[in-house]
Amino acid sequence: RGGQAQREIPFAQPGSLTRVFAIASGKGGVGKSSVTVNLALAMAQQGLKVGVVDADIYGHSVPAMLGVADARPTQVDDLIMPVPTPSGVSVISIGMLKPRRDQVVAWRGPMLDRALVQMLSDVYWGDLDALLLDLPPGTGDIAISLGQHLPNAEVVVVTTPQEAAAEVAERAGTMASMMHQRVVGVVENMSYFVSPESGEKLEIFGSGGGDRVAATLSQRFGYDVRVLGRIPLDPSLREGGDAGKPIVESDPTTPAAQQLLAIAQGL
Ligand code: ADP
Repeated sequence: RGGQAQREIPFAQPGSLTRVFAIASGKGGVGKSSVTVNLALAMAQQGLKVGVVDADIYGHSVPAMLGVADARPTQVDDLIMPVPTPSGVSVISIGMLKPRRDQVVAWRGPMLDRALVQMLSDVYWGDLDALLLDLPPGTGDIAISLGQHLPNAEVVVVTTPQEAAAEVAERAGTMASMMHQRVVGVVENMSYFVSPESGEKLEIFGSGGGDRVAATLSQRFGYDVRVLGRIPLDPSLREGGDAGKPIVESDPTTPAAQQLLAIAQGL
């Protein structure tokens, strides 16, 4: 908006009643987006008014997971209306700001910062109880921008049990703390797989990643960072994501969904 003063971010105002959760991870593919959409739906099931910002410049898979893959936001005057989803949460994605869907987001820091601010301040969110942000993996420009604009965001770190994933997850958590955000806990995803034949718990990705991240961050920050839950590998979680019907809604009695519902309850 040339020359015009930028609109303020409502969630950063002192009196804001919206809790902001940033879902972060060290590396990609650990289930960060899946955790984001399921927590959003779980909170909506609690009766909360929930918005989701998909800020993952590499993936932007959140709209598809919420069943609105091809939706574009509408505009009313100079406000962008977030896309409503069948489950009642509203979503805006960095992918929706691109002129064309197949375009790659090849933006540098200042453009990414502008895109993030736009999703927070030029979108008409209404009165939200909770806003969840799906961050890109790692400690890049978006994470820094978010830290600057929303130091009040509470950060949930997602990792797998694997040593290598945990190590980078610790860096993402530390980065959030450097930006004065509070890390509220660690979600360990893909923790185990229950063999349908034997019922045996198989630790496909090893073990200990979640505990390791929680222990390291607790020690570093001087406050207690807990493991909020351990989500098993479950094909129906992936299927739910692919079909735009997250597992907490499509298959709520599964252990994976139960973990996600409990995590949302504890936040
Ligand atoms: P990220 O956002 O960290 O890149 P995604 O949420 O996109 O990760 O997950 C990567 C892939 O793994 C997706 O296809 C997703 O459905 C699948 N997935 C994530 N968590 C699980 C799980 N617990 N069980 C089975 N599949 C999972």
